[in-house]
Amino acid sequence: MLSELLKNKNLFYHLYTIDKNVAEQYRQMPCPLCGGPLYFANYLRKPRGEPEGVSEKCFIRFSLCCGTEGCRHRVMPPSCRFIGRKIYWHIVILVILSDWHNKTTNIFKLSKLFGVSRNTIGRWIVFYQDIFPSSPQWQLIRGQVAASIKSNELPANLVNYFLSFKSSAKEALVSCLSFLSQGAGIYQKIRAG
Ligand SMILES: [Zn+2]
Repeated sequence: MLSELLKNKNLFYHLYTIDKNVAEQYRQMPCPLCGGPLYFANYLRKPRGEPEGVSEKCFIRFSLCCGTEGCRHRVMPPSCRFIGRKIYWHIVILVILSDWHNKTTNIFKLSKLFGVSRNTIGRWIVFYQDIFPSSPQWQLIRGQVAASIKSNELPANLVNYFLSFKSSAKEALVSCLSFLSQGAGIYQKIRAG
């Protein structure tokens, strides 16, 4: 059961360090609007679903702000921890949907285990099956993975795809989350440009 991985607080720290490195790369780029310097303007988020003892810094949402007076454009580096304004960690959403899709456990048990209402899980299923497949983000990155990954079985089949060649479930999830966030980055760059 993939959800066993959500007890691993080091996994959350690992995802934080990935986001930190990506944010630093973005900070070194010029403001997409005026070419000015970008500075960190981070803030804290309060996502749900992590195990006890996760370091406080893992809750930092990296954010950048242009230093040019009169511009102050904000740039959000892509994140493998957060997905839009959803209130659960992205990894929690992927794991719950994968365990549900792969029938490792049922929606009632998952709902109880993570304190997520069945309605919320239902909304995630709708998001991944009806909204995400037609998003510019998915359209841009889907060519990088096997064509056999059907849009109507996301995200479980994408997680399964990474599980098929990575040496551990942890590595597979981290790669899958990085892959998905990379799409968000491309999307943001295009919007900004
Ligand atoms: Zn600017």
